[in-house]
Amino acid sequence: MEENKQRQIKGVRISTVNMVMILISCILYILLISATVRVSGRYEEVHNSMEDYIACEESSALLTDGSAYLTEQARLYTVTLEPEYMENYFTEVYDTRRRETALEQLKTYYDGNAAYEYLLEALQRSNDLMVDEIYAMRLISQAQGYDEAGLPEAVQSVVLEEADQGLSKEDMVQRARAIVFGSKYQEAKDQIAASVASTMESIHEITHQKMLDNTAGLASMMAMQRRLISILFVETVATFIMIIMLIIKPLQVHVNCIKEEKMMEVTGSYEFKYLALTYNDIFEVKNANEAMLRYQAEHDPLTGIVNRGGFDQLKTMFRMNQIPMGFLIIDVDKFKLVNDGYGHEVGDQVLKKVAKLLKEGFRATDYPARIGGDEFAVILPNMTADLSAVIEKKIMELNHTLLHPDDGLPQVSLSVGGAFSKSGFTDDLYKKADEALYEVKENGRCGCRFYQEQ
Ligand code: GH3
Ligand code: MG
Repeated sequence: MEENKQRQIKGVRISTVNMVMILISCILYILLISATVRVSGRYEEVHNSMEDYIACEESSALLTDGSAYLTEQARLYTVTLEPEYMENYFTEVYDTRRRETALEQLKTYYDGNAAYEYLLEALQRSNDLMVDEIYAMRLISQAQGYDEAGLPEAVQSVVLEEADQGLSKEDMVQRARAIVFGSKYQEAKDQIAASVASTMESIHEITHQKMLDNTAGLASMMAMQRRLISILFVETVATFIMIIMLIIKPLQVHVNCIKEEKMMEVTGSYEFKYLALTYNDIFEVKNANEAMLRYQAEHDPLTGIVNRGGFDQLKTMFRMNQIPMGFLIIDVDKFKLVNDGYGHEVGDQVLKKVAKLLKEGFRATDYPARIGGDEFAVILPNMTADLSAVIEKKIMELNHTLLHPDDGLPQVSLSVGGAFSKSGFTDDLYKKADEALYEVKENGRCGCRFYQEQ
């Protein structure tokens, strides 16, 4: 049976489906988590690009401010002739060093890059300009007659051009002013500004490219995330559908089968099909056992026809069934003599023969039963008194057969008492048939009589 079941069952195994679903879910979740990590990475890069841009913008501004400050202090010195401006100038050059700081800052972001090169160029130009500024400051210091030793080293080291050495104080001041306010000076300033602008342009370009790359990456990662979430959604729905198809539905079907006490439908997954087939096997054995027990309870083991218990049930059934019916009680005549003369076993053979003849002699819709030792009964549904002659004839034939045995069994005869009812198996039907039987016994046996209403 086990092998048979294995062969019959074709179906998806819940355990396999479950494993596959778990595997798919794990893969999808891992992909989703990695996509999320990559999205946040890309976001960070976009953020960093912005930060770098701002930092570089600040660096460029710092260089511009430093350079402008130097110009301003040099010009103020030539205009006001106040030495404090020269001091401010050199404080910026040696201590504050905004321009150098700016370049260092930019180097950390854009070393070896065009932006850095442009800013380096701006610093070099600014440094070139310092030569003019310091020369102008030297002219002013000399015109003012400041003590050489008190001047900053850079100013001290300046050697005035021959043409400038012979100038009057007034002219020296004018000459200094002409240098820092002159068109050549302004051109150099413009070049510094142009280099800074190129730096900014370059930074802008780099940042823009980075932003484009990162936002494109970010967009594709987010699209991937959306796709994964959609697949996960579909997978979740599929899981629920599978649970309904493979578990819930078959469970409902099986529970209904159990409630209705019928064979289980072999449906659903492999496991449910296996369960249904096993249940059906057990169900069949149980039904067969029940039928066997019922049969044994209702049938006589010797003759195979309905016994007293079965006869009582038939009586109850026909009491409620309002149809016309006949009823016979049949007793074997002088049966004791058979037992005594031939033995109990031969007596049993005779009883079996009588039962067989009763079964064969009456209609298929009639119910012969063994209700005592040598006593039988026949319930005849849909039978009316006007057919009593037919029954009498039948009994005569039976007695003829029993009195002329061709099977080696002893001769026997039957006494039969009958009664009719117009509506089901009435309470007095048995009594009436019994009375008729008594009369037959009293009047020489081997015959059939029907109860006559007074
Ligand atoms: P009567 O014509 O008055 O009916 O006489 P009888 O000898 O048949 O008397 P009765 O019906 O009272 O006797 C029935 C006998 O049937 C008594 C009993 O020993 C015998 N008997 C009862 N059950 C069985 C059985 O299962 N097998 C056999 N062989 N005999 C049985
Ligand atoms: Mg008898």
